[in-house]
Amino acid sequence: MAITKIGVLTSGGDASGMNAAVRAIVRTGLDHGLEVCAIHEGYRGLIEGGDKIRPLRWSDVGGIIHRGGTVIGSARSDEFRTREGRLKAARNMLQHGMDSLVVVGGDGSLTGADVLRGEWPEFLEELVARHDVDAALAAAHPRLTVVGLVGSIDNDAAGTDMTIGADTALHRITEAIDAIGSTASSHQRAFIVEVMGRHCGYLALMGAIATGADALFIPECPPTDDNWEAGLVAGLLAGRAAGRRDSIVVLAEGATDRQGTPITTERLRQVLASGLGEAVRVTVLGHMQRGGAPSAFDRNLGTVMGYAAIETLLAGDADTRSLVMGMRGNRVVRIPLEECVAESRRINDALGAREFDRALELRGASFNDALRTFNTLLKTLPHPPAAGQRRLRLGILHAGAAAPGMNAAVRAAVRLTTDDGHVALGIRRGFHGLVTGELSDMNWMSVNGWAPMGGAELGTSRDVPAGPDFYAIARTIEQHAIDGLLIIGGWEAYEGAHRLFEERKNFPAFNIPVVCLPATIDNNLPGTELSIGADTALNSIVSVVDKIKQAAVAEQRCYVVEVMGRRCGYLAMMSGLATGAERVYLHEEGITLKALVEDLELLVRGFTQGKRLGLMIRSEHANDVYDTAFMCALFEEEGGGLFDVRQSILGHLQQGGDPSPFDRIQATRLARLSIRRLAEQAAAGQPAAEFIGMRSGTVAFGSFEDYPRLIDAANRRPKQQWWLELRRINHALARPAPRMGAARTSEEGQTLMGNPRP
Ligand code: ATP
Repeated sequence: MAITKIGVLTSGGDASGMNAAVRAIVRTGLDHGLEVCAIHEGYRGLIEGGDKIRPLRWSDVGGIIHRGGTVIGSARSDEFRTREGRLKAARNMLQHGMDSLVVVGGDGSLTGADVLRGEWPEFLEELVARHDVDAALAAAHPRLTVVGLVGSIDNDAAGTDMTIGADTALHRITEAIDAIGSTASSHQRAFIVEVMGRHCGYLALMGAIATGADALFIPECPPTDDNWEAGLVAGLLAGRAAGRRDSIVVLAEGATDRQGTPITTERLRQVLASGLGEAVRVTVLGHMQRGGAPSAFDRNLGTVMGYAAIETLLAGDADTRSLVMGMRGNRVVRIPLEECVAESRRINDALGAREFDRALELRGASFNDALRTFNTLLKTLPHPPAAGQRRLRLGILHAGAAAPGMNAAVRAAVRLTTDDGHVALGIRRGFHGLVTGELSDMNWMSVNGWAPMGGAELGTSRDVPAGPDFYAIARTIEQHAIDGLLIIGGWEAYEGAHRLFEERKNFPAFNIPVVCLPATIDNNLPGTELSIGADTALNSIVSVVDKIKQAAVAEQRCYVVEVMGRRCGYLAMMSGLATGAERVYLHEEGITLKALVEDLELLVRGFTQGKRLGLMIRSEHANDVYDTAFMCALFEEEGGGLFDVRQSILGHLQQGGDPSPFDRIQATRLARLSIRRLAEQAAAGQPAAEFIGMRSGTVAFGSFEDYPRLIDAANRRPKQQWWLELRRINHALARPAPRMGAARTSEEGQTLMGNPRP
């Protein structure tokens, strides 16, 4: 039977990004002509019924995407754990003619929905027998369909790379540890920072990598040494002796020792105070980790998952078993709820049984990879080179514009190179430094404190080598006996590396392994779905647009916000999705005068009907004739005085700022794998020229032999861009559905207007 009405609830601990999910569920549902009811206060509201279950209109979920927590409320309900409680819930759902449920919550909440689903047929019989519902109503709703979205800051769910809320929590943790780091180093102090995560060490581990912490305790990996306290103190003292001014120990709330005894902040404080002989400060981050505006990633994750939930319901895919929406490598996956919950439980059971190695293994490859990376980077000093080992000399440089996260990549590359007994050479100012021979040895401490730093300490340049540069570069490579190059940067890095590759026949010195590591806010590089810096830029854009929207609420105004990206619309597209923009202009789609006139008509209609704010996001080179100023002038002049128009060109603020946790972590991970690749190839005498990237959730290398066929050189972007698929979601959530009437009040009290036709 066709679905006509669905319920949505948020349950368990709140998580940032839940609102984006609710917004997407409601609007996608309405767009398909469904009625969508919010069940306020989770399962408690479902049991209570009455006005706890209310239909939502398009406008009811306007202006919520940027808010933390959940606007429809969340709760824990002991009554729902009882059969009697769930029977009441079933009765209320039937009385509302509802037999489809989208639940956003942790594994407890998802399990609860699945239990109700299993009991539904017997509940129908019972309710009919009791005359609580009539037989025809029961017959019309023979089964309950459940789709789940994992909303939890802990990132403890199996089957999905990320849960809604984890990235925002990581932002809060990283900001807090960065702030603590600056005070700790001013006073040469030790700090213990306790982070949330219950039995999962994800937040602690990623927070520790992102901030370059000095020690870490997580549930999955208790200290192996019985005398770990002494080892901890010795490590921190050695760090001080090597020049570090502070010590930051990150402790996951569920951490224990091998015997299962909790490692508490107090226990650690005593160990450090007596061992280091200095004041030790403890910060328990607590609920601030849950709060605050959701990160761009969580908004988009919630949005994409919410959209997918409705598609799944409508396709009938969840008719026979409950499904959970997950994300693997930027793609939506649908996992049977039972499997997802059972797998998560297996990890908790392993931890409970103190089978730590098994728990660690179950957390998956990237968790383990991250832990290995952290353990290598936290060492005070590198391993000395092994006797007789070949000591490679690896050059590290940037090229292209600065991107947040470049320093984190260099830090990891230098430390891992030296830890492997090789020599890291820092090349200044991009290819320019390679031409002029501006390079120097870098050591463990020369990159100390670089993990959180924005910009590019090595310096960068947009120069791409040409003509006489090749001879000079060949001479530098030979004179300094460079065995391999790691080029961290954007389009110019790839162009330059490709030219060196092409010139191999003329310059034998170029026959050394080269790896390009993608670092540009534009996210316009081949061989990777994401480049380092793009996440930070996206978050910068989103936080400015939030402010612009707040500033405009009292007026009738349309903003045209221009974002960077050159001819790649990634930043425009993703920031449009994350801010609820009603129109996104991309070079990939182009802009025609006809479309602008249509947009104008929709603006006029909307403002006539009471709209207060319009938000259009435009990629900087979407169309060089119809530029931002032209669009603003057109809208203003032809708007008949109904509204005013302001342009906002965000400019270089998008390139600056401290890198986001994601950019730091990915930079570190990619640098580690790149250095390993260079060393392997140099040792094996196979000088490939490659670029590293993240594709479908895994890290892969591409060859510069394939580079020309992967790129759209004229527009400086890859031929294939995965994120273009997301346009349909933007269209669905920003466009008035014809079924719903021509003009609906949206979001920020505005009327939604048409987006570009796909
Ligand atoms: P978080 O990860 O934030 O703790 P969660 O969804 O796992 O979220 P829980 O407290 O475990 O949080 O569950 C939330 C609610 O889901 C519970 O209060 C209860 O109403 C319902 N619930 C949980 N487990 C079950 C179960 N086994 N059977 C029925 N209902 C359940």
